[in-house]
Amino acid sequence: AAKADQRGTVRRFEPEMDAAAREKAKLENDLRRAVRHGELVIHYMPLIDIAGGDIIGYEALLRWQHPERGLLYPDSFIGLSEEIGLIDVIGQYVLQAACREAASWPGDLKVAVNASPLQFRGGNLLNIVLQALAMSGLDPSRLEIEITEAVLMDRSPAIAHLLESIRALGVGISMDDFGTGYSSLSYLLSYPFTKIKIDKSFIMGLAEPNSKAVVSAIIGLGKSLGMTVTAEGIEEPEHIEYLKGIGCGQGQGYLIGKTKPSDQLPHAQEPRRNVA
Ligand code: C2E
Ligand code: MG
Ligand code: MG
Ligand code: MG
Repeated sequence: AAKADQRGTVRRFEPEMDAAAREKAKLENDLRRAVRHGELVIHYMPLIDIAGGDIIGYEALLRWQHPERGLLYPDSFIGLSEEIGLIDVIGQYVLQAACREAASWPGDLKVAVNASPLQFRGGNLLNIVLQALAMSGLDPSRLEIEITEAVLMDRSPAIAHLLESIRALGVGISMDDFGTGYSSLSYLLSYPFTKIKIDKSFIMGLAEPNSKAVVSAIIGLGKSLGMTVTAEGIEEPEHIEYLKGIGCGQGQGYLIGKTKPSDQLPHAQEPRRNVA
């Protein structure tokens, strides 16, 4: 069976290929196998309400449990999956699995899923979101889609329409890594964002007055626009103190909690009642 379903996908290792090219070809084969064999797993990073300290949801972060190399992080394979046309199938997997797992969490804990710019090109993302919600039974208000400015750079009406349609389902739309990239403020007005996530570089630099100025300006901007503001990359108690003082809505980072599989999240560890 392995032979049959690998046909046409296995790259030949020509002797003239240099080491880097061979390495990449191997990773490519490995990634195709990973998708088929379920080596891609999702870990979840807690998101808190800064004022009260409660966990209000989790961000789904993709990992690859590679049989030889161990746990790989998305920066080492998302770019490759985009290049070789695997990002749509991977993106769909993440959305379905994250919605399914979140549907089993208690209360109204939210789940945030990252989407690649390329997933917005095909025009099929609305159906993929609808299908993930239907299959899992997750309430749409518990799902957030995170996008970076790279999605918006072409200013296509089709992308604006797609985002409006996803938003109309009740799904939240977050601008990820705000403050890096182009950060055109007009993006915030042109698309139906419900949340701004301040890039971790600003939070990690909070000891500097200029970072403080940028962070508090983004929080003010979010408030005026009626958007929730989340600070990423909270690593120090002083970060929380500062963010609390200036009224930042939500936060995440290593100080608050590292990423864990769904079955190791705090609510899964609590003793269950009503279990026969
Ligand atoms: P992101 O969406 O901005 O996710 C936040 C990244 O910052 C995560 O890295 C997280 O582990 C890291 N992080 C969070 N808090 C801290 C902190 O306090 N300190 C430091 N140093 N880092 C922190 P990760 O998991 O390696 O993900 C990197 C990026 O890969 C993500 O950035 C996201 O853009 C992308 N990504 C992750 N999962 C997916 C996915 O399913 N699909 C797509 N298309 N992209 C994904
Ligand atoms: Mg994100
Ligand atoms: Mg981010
Ligand atoms: Mg990022």
